[in-house]
Amino acid sequence: MKNGFCPKCGSTDVRSGEFLAEKGGGYTGNRIPVNIALLNAAAWLDNYVCVRCGYVESYIADPKRLHEIAERWPAVSTAPPGPPEGVWPPPPTEPMA
Ligand SMILES: [Zn+2]
Repeated sequence: MKNGFCPKCGSTDVRSGEFLAEKGGGYTGNRIPVNIALLNAAAWLDNYVCVRCGYVESYIADPKRLHEIAERWPAVSTAPPGPPEGVWPPPPTEPMA
């Protein structure tokens, strides 16, 4: 998305909310918690929006928060190859004649 292309629909009409100075403002702030043990330990997000299909991508704005997350959050394990979600169990096959 940062390159101006929507990965979902291929549109090049992608808008960035990076300019929003108050992206963290108030209760409606666009942020994720990083460390609940600390006050003000949330990471603000920069949003990229495809105005054709509505797809949104968010990036943590502050590189220091990325470092914090890398230190504190568990890694997501990579899934073994298998059927994609939503198609398991596989549809029944025709009985052998
Ligand atoms: Zn799109």
